[in-house]
Amino acid sequence: MSHPRITWRVKYQEELDLAFGREIAARPGGEDLYRCIQCGTCSSTCPLSIYMERTPRQIIAMARAGFKDEVLASHTIWLCTSCYACAVDCPKQIKITDIMYALKQKAIEQKVYPARFPIPVLAKEFFHAVRKTGRSNESRIVVRMFLKTRPWKLLGNIRLGLKLLRRGRLAVAQEKMTGGQAQLRMLLQATRRLENPTPARSPPIAEGH
Ligand code: SF4
Ligand code: SF4
Repeated sequence: MSHPRITWRVKYQEELDLAFGREIAARPGGEDLYRCIQCGTCSSTCPLSIYMERTPRQIIAMARAGFKDEVLASHTIWLCTSCYACAVDCPKQIKITDIMYALKQKAIEQKVYPARFPIPVLAKEFFHAVRKTGRSNESRIVVRMFLKTRPWKLLGNIRLGLKLLRRGRLAVAQEKMTGGQAQLRMLLQATRRLENPTPARSPPIAEGH
């Protein structure tokens, strides 16, 4: 995997979004953001941290400090594979994975994920398909992901795609729910309401600081 080019610059407080941490902490999954004591155990445990431009500990610190743009545009949140290894070792039992999910949702909402990075596009296509049909169709989702990120890679995967189709591992026809659409819509509306809660008025007190 090639590393993204990283550039650093000093940012002044007036450029920060000081409400960002509170907003993430108010989302499902983000509740523990201010309980982190910055011990760095998650960063040393994470098997993907060597590929991340910022470690999980840094992402938490930056989110709390208001580095909204940098956190949301970071590859780190998309490289997280939800393995939960960090959560197992965290001395504060913080579910870092869920914080990453809260940040991914926010990044998708704000459309600030890394350009041509396939994972956020894959997530969006998946949700689009489920919202529309109640089913995910892997072949369509993958084709749309390639077309929107790296179309030339589609050509290189044609043989593999055909092999999977022949063996029945990929479906071409779009499946649809035969009932329960109303319940699905209600469920998705409820999750939408949870995704956009009212931000907390005052920041929770950080433990250990
Ligand atoms: S999330 Fe947990 S393991 Fe990671 S720095 Fe914070 S307290 Fe330490
Ligand atoms: S859940 Fe994500 S951040 Fe935590 S160890 Fe796994 S890949 Fe790393």
